[in-house]
Amino acid sequence: MSDLILDPVKLDRLADVAIQTGLNLQPGQDLIITAPVEALPLVRRITASAYKAGAGLVTPILSDGEISKARFEHARDGSFDSAPDWLYEGMAKAYSNNAARLAIVGEDPMLLAECDPAKVAQAGKANAKAYKPALKKISNFEINWSIVSYPTKAWAMRVFPDLKPQEAVDRLADAIFAASRVDLDDPVAAWADHNATLRDRSDWLNSKRFDALHFTGPGTDLVVGLADDHEWHGGASQAQNGITCNPNIPTEEVFTTPHANRINGRVRATKPLSHQGSLIKDIEMVFKDGRAIEARASQGEAVLQELIKTDEGAARLGEVALVPYQSPISASGLLFFNTLYDENAACHIALGQCYSKCFVGGAALSENEIAQRGGNSSLIHVDWMIGGAETDIDGIMADGTKVPVFRNGNWAE
Ligand code: ZN
Ligand code: ZN
Repeated sequence: MSDLILDPVKLDRLADVAIQTGLNLQPGQDLIITAPVEALPLVRRITASAYKAGAGLVTPILSDGEISKARFEHARDGSFDSAPDWLYEGMAKAYSNNAARLAIVGEDPMLLAECDPAKVAQAGKANAKAYKPALKKISNFEINWSIVSYPTKAWAMRVFPDLKPQEAVDRLADAIFAASRVDLDDPVAAWADHNATLRDRSDWLNSKRFDALHFTGPGTDLVVGLADDHEWHGGASQAQNGITCNPNIPTEEVFTTPHANRINGRVRATKPLSHQGSLIKDIEMVFKDGRAIEARASQGEAVLQELIKTDEGAARLGEVALVPYQSPISASGLLFFNTLYDENAACHIALGQCYSKCFVGGAALSENEIAQRGGNSSLIHVDWMIGGAETDIDGIMADGTKVPVFRNGNWAE
């Protein structure tokens, strides 16, 4: 447990932003929270905020890094296909009964870096399989859900390795509070303004009906075909249960579904990716007809190779997202080693599962109909960052006309 102290006023505001803006939790709604045990000061505040908003039952599920690591250090070989199906079945049942879902992230980004990548990948795959029924309700946006973060000591020391623990935690906390807009007097109102800006961007992209996006930058020359009937989203949006929520706090992206068979060219990552406790650096991939036919990394390549072998869809894309280089998280100049933050500091793509809400009328589409439109399916959804100060993006219309979308990392207009 951490004995480090965080600003109680800002933690209270973050709790309120999580409940009011992130989830927009409704009276009578149950809530499932997952969090690292170090985030207990925030979990307690969020629970209080939830009950004040009229929550039915709040159920927190806490995890601990040392306990996660103990499995890979001491569990017998052949045991890594196990996953707590019963737990995920229970979560899926709760979502079917309209429970909301909040994840608090903040684990050590390199927790499992010393562990056997094959065992970590095997356990990750078993977990993804067991989690799929519950995750589908999230990726189909059946209920309101959100992710917020908490500055644990282990995470803070990765971001600020030269600082003393309390200083590192304070710096990371300040960055989290600023990105989550809880350093402002009325964070909930500030989020409403920000959501309106993201809505304008996604409306513009939807009006253009681009056939593809062409990304260029150092090491990158990539044409990302967009799925038929794709729809751009950003900021707050309405879940199928009718509740409008902000699935990520913070969020700076507008995003949609690429076409699983129409990605061509090469792409170089602009930031390292922290994936399941390992760091993957300098990813480079070559895509042909949607599939990654080459994948390299200067560090963590074994983890990357295991990842794209997870299933057929794991070597294809399920998301493309635009984030300007001058967005506040990017402007902080920090590398967070945490996808919630790093993906909101740069344009990114995701290997794996697409979001059904990123199709016109997506909620009513069957899995088959989504696949016919070019939507990818996989057990994984892993975002990695491909945008930077030199990123240019052209939108390509069906007739071949090009429209500038990004110049030098920012919106062209
Ligand atoms: Zn994204
Ligand atoms: Zn994503």
